[in-house]
Amino acid sequence: MRIALVNPTWSFENSTDCGCRSLRLPLEFGACKVLLERAGHDVLMPDGALDGLSLEGLADRVADFAPAMTVVTTASTSLFRRCAQPESRVPRAFLDALAGRGGRTVAVGPHGSVTPATTLGKLGFDRAPEGPGAEVEVSRGRPYSCTFCAEIDFRDKYRRRALPAILEEVDRLIAQGLSDLSFIDEIFLPRRALPEALAARAVEFGVRTRIDLWKPGMLDMLGAAGCVSIEAGVEGRTEGGRAMRDKTCRASTDDLALRLVHARRSVPFVQANPIKVAGDDPETVAARRDRRRAAGIRANDPVPLSPSSPDYRRLWGEPDGEAWERARAHDLGQFDRFGDGQEERPAPLRELEAACCPA
Ligand code: SF4
Repeated sequence: MRIALVNPTWSFENSTDCGCRSLRLPLEFGACKVLLERAGHDVLMPDGALDGLSLEGLADRVADFAPAMTVVTTASTSLFRRCAQPESRVPRAFLDALAGRGGRTVAVGPHGSVTPATTLGKLGFDRAPEGPGAEVEVSRGRPYSCTFCAEIDFRDKYRRRALPAILEEVDRLIAQGLSDLSFIDEIFLPRRALPEALAARAVEFGVRTRIDLWKPGMLDMLGAAGCVSIEAGVEGRTEGGRAMRDKTCRASTDDLALRLVHARRSVPFVQANPIKVAGDDPETVAARRDRRRAAGIRANDPVPLSPSSPDYRRLWGEPDGEAWERARAHDLGQFDRFGDGQEERPAPLRELEAACCPA
């Protein structure tokens, strides 16, 4: 797709803006351009001031490119995060000069994040970002101790926040225009009162959890409350595999698979992390994987070994300066795939970090 990322020619007459007026490189757009081009798009990134163009000249330049989508920022780079000028006249004037020649138009920037409907109304753009996301914690620490988990150096005793404090934070985020939350607990534990309270609020959210802790009825409740993403630890394809990893899990492998499938009925994205262990029967494993895929469940397989995991310490003791290289080499020696989302064969660390550690 042809996409124009436009920093319009700013002017500040009679504005209350108090920021620096010096020219700045449009860093945010620069980062977007790299990502879009990597994804195969054709990108034009004109900057009104740096290119010395009037709003009309800028609009003509964009029109010559004939984009399918034109993205315009509502605040200049230097003001983006703090004292953005409140008025939206410059992006509006640019859009008027473009006069429908830029394809679909999208406004990005602080105005659309805070007041999306008002901003669209003022600007006449087709889209503004819908409520950006936020991370929320219900608990901290780890209630379990699985042998492969990167836990030793980062995670301590499990403790949980009181429900009123969580809801106060969620309501404040909603009031700020956010509608997409990620619960970033190590393990989001079932707690009926929270999904019940979230169901009454206009939010979508993702969780990271252990599927064996959730009964079907609670999974339904999670989906009905707005859960759109579950990253579920299974960590061990067989009862024996889970026991080897100190997973205190009472559910059978078939029961876990059924719960994943059940979750997928009401939650659009479900990812399982079932870990390969020596002795897994390849045919049984392949059949289970096919069933999971048919039900629309993604799998990470295996979880890469971390120097902070009990498994690493069991193999090599305390991590030294070569610990990350050693763990990666160990993984690459055993597996050539690490999950359904992986597109390329993983490379050794030395290759990936050639710029960090020149030979
Ligand atoms: S693997 Fe999951 S359940 Fe096990 S210790 Fe780590 S975070 Fe907790």
